[in-house]
Amino acid sequence: MDGTMKAVAKLQPGHGCEIVRVPIPTISRREVLIKVNAAAICGTDVHIYEWDDWPQKRIKTPLVFGHEFCGEIVEAGESVTSVKVGQVVSVETHITCRHCYYCRQGMGHICETMKIIGVDRDGCFAEYVSVPDTACWPWEIEVPDEIAAIQDPYGNAVHTALSADLVGADVLITGMGPIGLAAIPVAKLSGAKRVFATDVSEYRLDLAGKLGADVVINPRKEDPVAIIKGMTQGRGADVLLEMSGNPSAIKQGFSSLRKAGVACILGIPSKPVEFDIANDIVFKSIVVKGINGRRIWDTWYKGQALLAKGVDLSKLITHRMPFEDIKTGLELMAAGECGKVILYP
Ligand code: NAD
Ligand code: ZN
Repeated sequence: MDGTMKAVAKLQPGHGCEIVRVPIPTISRREVLIKVNAAAICGTDVHIYEWDDWPQKRIKTPLVFGHEFCGEIVEAGESVTSVKVGQVVSVETHITCRHCYYCRQGMGHICETMKIIGVDRDGCFAEYVSVPDTACWPWEIEVPDEIAAIQDPYGNAVHTALSADLVGADVLITGMGPIGLAAIPVAKLSGAKRVFATDVSEYRLDLAGKLGADVVINPRKEDPVAIIKGMTQGRGADVLLEMSGNPSAIKQGFSSLRKAGVACILGIPSKPVEFDIANDIVFKSIVVKGINGRRIWDTWYKGQALLAKGVDLSKLITHRMPFEDIKTGLELMAAGECGKVILYP
């Protein structure tokens, strides 16, 4: 498609971003051009905007950023057969090579040469974005654009939660960012007996309650370990879903787990964390699982099935705005005064 489009770009290294006009992306024979219906801001976008250590090492400017979105396929390369023009799709942000050891073993989510949309190639804070046809997720059910746009964090939540047996389980989720919040209805619908949610932000604890958490705990005011043990005959939670990356939450999470409990860790601490392996893992016979991204496409099928069965993410979306207001959205995200922020072109 010829012409130019509106986009949010990082034009050179440093703090900030610009609203610019750039050429509409061209597509190769195995790519599709998607007209963006709705996009969402991720914590990664805040890092790119603020230009801290990680983007300085990873990002090459100029870059149109953003990677959580859905939209309509408006053009397809000549070799594309899996999707077609007119379909509304969500997109798996992680572009896998499909040839490395892990891809060939069905573990594309830990591909050795993974490329990320909006990080390693132009992203979705634009009117149009080009992606490989193999990254498209055509829906089998009706899903509102806003929900179709947040499948990346929702998929992380589904992947983490379903990595443990939740049926009848007391589940502790530490960190009520968008992913921790999304994990609440997933855990509840997957059979969890009770969900305990912790965060240091009252705004996010309030959202946790709205999304169905049974017990919300602010560790700055109350001791989560004492509360959880008090409600579980002194044993502790069956499952920990760690979604904060915060060292003190990690410590409290493991202390709150019962013997032979399962810890699924998605949160990413900003630096190495000191940890009592002997007492918190070995003597308690804890199973620890690291969770990276979403399984492609098993997590997507499970997530879709859970949405069809009634997982309701509508309360997770707290703000909606046009691309032009992106700085407001990024600042809300940085302050944690929001759930998901949706951007419309
Ligand atoms: P986020 O980083 O905003 O969420 C973290 C939440 O933890 C915040 O609400 C914060 O207030 C809370 N928190 C801080 N200290 C706490 C404490 N002591 N106890 C309880 N909660 C505390 O947003 P997110 O996007 O939901 O990401 C969650 C985590 O997952 C982050 O660490 C992020 O880097 C990581 N992440 C991992 C993957 C992966 O593939 N493993 C993918 C995306 C994000
Ligand atoms: Zn690979």
